[in-house]
Amino acid sequence: MLVRPLVILYHGVPRRLCAGPLNAMSFEKHMVFLKRYCVFIRPEEYATARGSLRHPALLLTFDDGLRNNAEVVAPMLRRLQIPAVFFISSRHCEPGQYLWFTYLRMLRLYFPGDGVTLNGTFISLHGTQREKGIQRLTKFLLELKPHPDAMYDAIASQLPALEEFVATNVLADECYGMTAEQVHELGNDPLFSVGGHTVDHPYLTRCTPREVRQQLWENKTWLEHITGSRCDLFAYPLGDLDRNILEQCARFRFQQAFATEWGRVRHNQFAIRRVGIYRDAMQLLRIKIGYGHWLPIRLFHSARAFARALGTVSSMQ
Ligand SMILES: [Zn+2]
Repeated sequence: MLVRPLVILYHGVPRRLCAGPLNAMSFEKHMVFLKRYCVFIRPEEYATARGSLRHPALLLTFDDGLRNNAEVVAPMLRRLQIPAVFFISSRHCEPGQYLWFTYLRMLRLYFPGDGVTLNGTFISLHGTQREKGIQRLTKFLLELKPHPDAMYDAIASQLPALEEFVATNVLADECYGMTAEQVHELGNDPLFSVGGHTVDHPYLTRCTPREVRQQLWENKTWLEHITGSRCDLFAYPLGDLDRNILEQCARFRFQQAFATEWGRVRHNQFAIRRVGIYRDAMQLLRIKIGYGHWLPIRLFHSARAFARALGTVSSMQ
């Protein structure tokens, strides 16, 4: 039985072993396993390539353009001769600039204070209230208009800077975007492709149509300037799109655009479904690769969240 290619999605792969569920060591295990089991394809082969159940055809993609993709992932893929696409948000390619969710993740993990104040409202991040506080702060920030400028302005002018409470080695390993030189290098490596991912990684459906055009256009032209070649590929930040945004993307003459497993809009060329790999567990990777086309992966995540909630309940009893 011939099967169409599966597209999988990774994000950052930090060096540090304690950095989170996926790091350089666990990622290498994933790649060695996939190299043995799958046939890797390039984006231009997506429409025509077919794999088998024994040896699925796989397109490997990475979102956001974190520096660890250039420093940890790319050398490993070169060694194993695995092709990949890197979708890059250009904002954090500027020194000292971060993507908004990177900021919030670091605030949750490392901020030593009891809370922050945003537009006169104090949000507690004290002890057990931290998780809820971060959710509240995220909601506040995302509701500021115009999105995403007002959100970035509020972070810069009202919230503590990451450099004040996160160690430089952690910032470099988990938060920095690629340098322009690294983007150039990846874009000119025949093994890799570079694609657009907007400038600021907004929720595109929260942006005005003008802002959507600007986010797509500025990012695309910057990438083309840095790599010296046409930027044909795009990935919707957070898989967030609707029909209007899909049409906008087609008008910018991208050849392919990639979504995630979560969204409802599907299109064979401009909203290609991708299955996200977020954990190191090999068993989960095997299931996603083997059944990614057919299983409602969403159910998996819900089931895991449910199991975690049950775990929490039983450990509290
Ligand atoms: Zn992203």
